[in-house]
Order: sequence, then structure tokens, then C-alpha cells
Amino acid sequence: MYTGSLRAQISALDPYTPGLSIDEIRQKFGLAQIFKMASNENPLGVPPLAQAAIARHAAEAFRYPRGGNPRLLAALAKFHKVSERRIVIGNGSDEVIDLLIRMLCEPTRDTIACFSPCFNLYPIQAQISDVTVKRCPLREDFSFDFNGLLAQVDDTTRLVFLTTPDNPSGFCPTVDEVRDFAAKLEQKTSKALLLIDEAYMDFCEDETAHSLLACGEIPSNVGIMRTFSKSFGLAGLRLGYAILPEVLAEGFWRARLPFSVNLLAEEAGLAALTDLNFREKTMETVHHGRKLLSESLKAMGCTVWPSAANFLLFRLPASASAKDCFETLLSHGIIIRLLKSYSLPDHLRVSIGNSQENSAFLKEMAAFLGRI
Ligand SMILES: *Cc1c(COP(=O)(O)O)cnc(C)c1O
Repeated sequence: MYTGSLRAQISALDPYTPGLSIDEIRQKFGLAQIFKMASNENPLGVPPLAQAAIARHAAEAFRYPRGGNPRLLAALAKFHKVSERRIVIGNGSDEVIDLLIRMLCEPTRDTIACFSPCFNLYPIQAQISDVTVKRCPLREDFSFDFNGLLAQVDDTTRLVFLTTPDNPSGFCPTVDEVRDFAAKLEQKTSKALLLIDEAYMDFCEDETAHSLLACGEIPSNVGIMRTFSKSFGLAGLRLGYAILPEVLAEGFWRARLPFSVNLLAEEAGLAALTDLNFREKTMETVHHGRKLLSESLKAMGCTVWPSAANFLLFRLPASASAKDCFETLLSHGIIIRLLKSYSLPDHLRVSIGNSQENSAFLKEMAAFLGRI
């Protein structure tokens, strides 16, 4: 009889409770149409050029992909004007985050530092690797207390995570603040990598005012992550990448599972990089929708935080419950995000949708707030 058991770090994880699928919600509430505004996906869907590339290459799916994704590497190097030797590609940013923690942190000895709340994957993957997470609370207004974060750094720190623009608030520090923090981190310890997650950076109005990557001057202790899941519209194919110090990029390719980026994802990614028309429409849709939703929610009495991303964090007028709002919208076919898992039970997050989704969301919000 099998008598093995899970490692303590795995037993301690909270079981993952997936939200209802679109099909389940449709059946449960007898709805014809569901609008998902919960996961910050692209409101316009998949880039047409990527769809065509997937169809064109479908018959090659019986082949293994080429190791090392050299064509995508070359295309990304050109897109961001950085050396290929600094780029790594993974099965979503998720794989890049997980692998960097495992590459850089010695279990039980080394630590990572991040804000609280932050994207849950950083602390969860650290816990799985038995790496201690040191956390600094965000300020009341969700801005970054850089000195507080720096105070969590010591000799054992191997990774410091920043998310810019931040999830779930949409806050985005200036490039000067980020550059200054990188310099102070380097003074304190030369052994820590500042890993900046720029999953939403291309939605901000002026990238060069916020991104070291866009400025073309990445300090030696900084890595920058981006993804095809949001503005490039390929969340379901799982494709993310990072620009790292060369020595880490080289280690990453040795440690990565050889075929973790699949053949169709690579073809779709290559095509998505060239679909400038889709990109332009995406930015227009997000910038226009962000303004519309923000102003409309404020007019309804909600508190809305300024966002540089394709989502908004908001709180209802005092008498209304976030959970009731979430459930009422759900029963009308609109999925938004309750932020319990970020320890923000009174807050809600909505992804910017297309015009049909935005109107449906605002109509249901007005109806909900009108009833209380
Ligand atoms: C959506 C998101 C990502 C993207 O993750 P993928 O694995 O590339 O889909 C990364 N970081 C943050 C903070 C996100 O919200």
C-alpha cells in the first residue's frame, strides 16, 4: 500500500477554487449571453493575424516545437531593441516567475520581498519552493512605499517583485522612482534581482514615463517581464517573456522544460507582434473604456482608483456590499472580480470591456445601486 505523503509546503496551500465557468453560469441562471470582465483579457479577442497563423500551422501540431524558440526570440529582440541573449520565453509569465524563484532561491535559506497585496503567484510559488516571503503593505491609497519595501531586503533576499502598473489597483510609479529604487536596492545588496512585472505596461498613456524597458536603460540588477496574455490577446495560449541579465537568461534556458512553449503559441505570438492594426484598436478601446467606466462609476457614487492598466479598482458607496454587487451582476451574466483573495473584501475589480460589455456592466451597476 502506498504510504507516501505531500511535502508540508504543498499540504499548507489553500485548495484552488476556480470560479464558475462561463457555461456553468449560463446554465445556472438561464442566460443567453455572458460577459466576462474578471481576468483582464483583451476586450477585442484574438488578433486576426494570430488567428490566421494558428489556422495555417494547425497541421504541424503533431511535430515538437523547435527548442529555444529562436524565431520568437529574434522577433522580441527587434520589438524591444534588446539583445536576444537577454530574452527568455515561457508558458505564460507564470512559468518565468516560478522558474526564476527556483533558479535563484535556495529553499529555507533565501527570501523574496514584495508588496502586500500583490499578484498572488509570487508568494504562492515561493511557498511551494520553501522560500520565505517578506512583505511590505501598500499605502492606504495603493501607492508604493519603496522605503518600506527596501526595509524588507537583507543578505538573504534574492528577488524583489514590483508590478507596474500594479494589479489590482492600476497604480503605476514613475520611471524615476523605479530607477531610484533599483539603485538603492543595489547599494543594499548586489545579490537581489529586481523583477518588474510589466504585464499591463503597454496600456499606460506614456510608456517612457513609467518603464525602464521603454526607456532603453535597464540597470544591471533589473529584470522585466511582459506577457502575450493581455494587450496581445493570447491568454489561452500561455506565452510570456522576460528581459534578464545575460547570465540569468542563459541559466533559464538550461533550466526550462524544453518544450514548455508550444508550436501554435509561438506562431501566434510571432503574428501578434506584427498585427499593429489590432494593437492600435486595443489601445483605443481600453483608453476610451477606462475613462468611460471610471467617470460613470464615480457619477454613481463609487470610489475609483486611477488606473494605468486595462482594469479598474473600485469601492461601492458605503451602504452597498461588494459581495452582493458581485453576485447580482453574476446572476445577470456579468462576471467581475471580488478581491477576497487579495484581502480586499470591500473592493471590486472590473476589466475594461468592449463597448457592448461596458454598457451592459454600467446598466447593471446603475440598477444595483438604484435598488439599495
Ligand atoms: C495577467 C498577469 C500576468 C500574466 O501572466 P501570464 O502567465 O503571462 O498569463 C502577469 N502578472 C500579472 C500581475 C498579471 O496580472
